[in-house]
Order: sequence, then structure tokens, then C-alpha cells
Amino acid sequence: MNYNIAVIPGDGIGPEVVAETLKVLDKVGDKFNHKFNYTQVLAGGAAIDETGECLPSETVNICKNSDAVLLGAVGGPKWDALPGEQRPERALLGIRKALGLYANLRPAMVFDELADASPLKPEIIAGGLDIVVVRELTGGIYFGEKGHKDTPMGPAAYDVEEYSEGEVKRIAKVAFDMAMKRGKKVTSVDKANVLESSRLWRRVVAEVAADYPDVTLDNLYVDNASMQLVRNPKQFDVIVTSNMFGDILSDEASQITGSIGMLPSASLADGNFGMYEPVHGSAPDIAGTGQANPIATILSAAMMLRYTFGLMDEAASIENAVHKFLKNGYRTADLCGDAKESVTTIKAGDLIAAEI
Ligand code: NAD
Repeated sequence: MNYNIAVIPGDGIGPEVVAETLKVLDKVGDKFNHKFNYTQVLAGGAAIDETGECLPSETVNICKNSDAVLLGAVGGPKWDALPGEQRPERALLGIRKALGLYANLRPAMVFDELADASPLKPEIIAGGLDIVVVRELTGGIYFGEKGHKDTPMGPAAYDVEEYSEGEVKRIAKVAFDMAMKRGKKVTSVDKANVLESSRLWRRVVAEVAADYPDVTLDNLYVDNASMQLVRNPKQFDVIVTSNMFGDILSDEASQITGSIGMLPSASLADGNFGMYEPVHGSAPDIAGTGQANPIATILSAAMMLRYTFGLMDEAASIENAVHKFLKNGYRTADLCGDAKESVTTIKAGDLIAAEI
């Protein structure tokens, strides 16, 4: 089979970690008899330097006409002085909107081999941890009506949290479909004791749950959920929540794993289309030094194979290769704290590709 992937290497360590990921994908293609075709496109600082804009229309068109998008990271000090609208990071909002990416999936896994990296006590994460946060990405308070007005207490500002039934329904379906492929448990997080929009959220999620009799649904208030994530994170399988609550909880969940260089993510649209990228940024402090950990991006490619292309064995082959790499004792600098004892970005890519 042929698969067309738009590739945005981006800035800083982006091109370095993407290069190793393509190496691994090519190995998967050889082994399983697929052809992955890459079209490299510009976004972020690299696009500003080349074209004067952070998200050229050609990039959007090529992404739209591809089966999936793989992104490294964008941004860096070189462009920090630009006004907000022109900064490299604007490309991310623009591309999410242009591609209709409404579901953000962030797995938070603690690898047995890296349990020491977690800030939680060993007994809390013993036996591994595997959570996916499904965050609604294009609605809620970040996109609601906003403005200023005068009040008896002086000038005020407001942002409106608003969700339609349709928006909740489609994100809930993503979460339940995901749970069916995993531990068959969904925890919906809201603030239904206070917010009207949360009461609608809770009602619609329950309606969707009726179509998934094999999946258990729990509801938690967001304050309790943030507490439970550090108290007993193993109770969670799939967490589904709104844009703002998801923004906060997915960062909390990712920190439990202790290693930002390991965390992949996916942003999905209707019809299996998705953009896949590491959770980390462009890490300008280590760009060009060979210290970047490529695993977050490599695991993002595994998510692409699983969620967009439906290639389950191929996705598992990448995840197993990463496990073997770690089991064999190899570490990039971020994981071992000593650059001299670590393997470089390129060496890590070679070793992981060799395990496919
Ligand atoms: P960052 O994630 O780039 O770096 C934070 C720290 O983690 C740094 O010390 C960095 O060296 C380290 N780190 C990150 N990824 C690593 C990896 N793969 N291997 C080893 N170490 C790694 O966050 P930041 O420093 O806040 O941001 C740097 C730039 O990236 C900024 O311009 C920011 O706007 C941008 N950014 C982009 C994205 C994105 O493209 N999706 C996301 C976050 C930040």
C-alpha cells in the first residue's frame, strides 16, 4: 500500500527528530511491504525565513491533500521578537483550524525502564501507567465570545465557555472508540456542579455511552480529577474533557511520566485524518548538539500508523522497538543526565530502526 505523508520538520530539534522518525518509518515500510511517500513542507520559523509567513498556503494545501501530517516542532529565539500574529507558533493554531483537527490525543505512559523518571512514588506507578487524554481542541472557552465591558466594580473582561451537543458528541465518540481498543473505560471530566455547559457535556457523553455497552463510563469533577491523577493515576484509561480542562490535565498527566522527550500526540479530524507531533517544543537549547531524544516523534509516527492508517501490527512494531532500545540500556542525554554516556539522536534512530 502507498501512504502520502506531509512532513513539517520545523525548527530547532524538529528536523533532527523527524529525520530519525522517517528512518524508522522506512524500515517499517520495508518489513511490512508499504511505501510511505513524504512531501516536506515549511511551517514556523523556517517558513518565515523562506517565504515571510509562518504558514504558507502551499503548506496547508499539501497537508490537506495528504493522508496524514507529521510535525517536528516550531519556534525559537530567532523569531521571539516578532509580534504575536507573526510568530512561528501561530502556524500551529492555523493548521489545526485549517485541517479541522478537533480531537487532541495525548497518551501518558510510564515505561517500566524509566520508572525512576516519574516524580511519583514507585508504589503509585508500579506495573506501568497508560492513560490517554482526549481533549476537545476547537471549541469551548478558547474559541467562545470574548470581550470587555464596564461594571460597578470597574472595567471587566470575559470569555464564554460554550459547547454544542454536536461538538460534545463527536469528541465523546473519539474517546469511546479509543477505549474500545484499550482498557474499555472512559472518565469524562467536567464541572457539572457549577457550569451549565458542563451539565450539557455530561448529558451528551452519557447518551453516547449508551452506544458502547462494553465501555464503563465514570464522571469526575475537574478538581477531583486533577487530584486523582497524582493520587491514583492507574484508575484511568481514557479521559475525555473540554478544551481548557484538557489543556491543564494533559500537561499534568504528561509530567507524571517525567520525560518530555518520550511523549507523542495526535490531533484528529473526521475521517481518520490526523496530524502527529511530539508534545515537546523545538528545544533551541540543545538544537544541533545531537542530544535530542527522537522517541516522542517516533512514537507519534506509531500513532499515525494506528489511528490514521489502521496498521496495528506496524504501530506495535515501532512501540516494541522503542521498548527494546530502552531495555538494552540505551538512553539519550535527557534520560541519563550525562551527555557523555548517552547515545546521540542519530544513533538512537539507528538502534530503534534496527529493532523493527
Ligand atoms: P521545549 O519543549 O522545546 O523544551 C523544554 C526543555 O525540554 C528544554 O530544556 C529542552 O532541551 C528539553 N527537551 C524538549 N524536547 C526534548 C527532546 N526531544 N529531547 C531532549 N530534551 C528535550 O519547550 P520550550 O523551551 O518552552 O520552547 C522552545 C520553543 O519551542 C519555543 O519557541 C516554543 O514556543 C516552541 N514550542 C513549540 C511547540 C510545538 O511546535 N508544538 C510546543 C511547545 C513549544
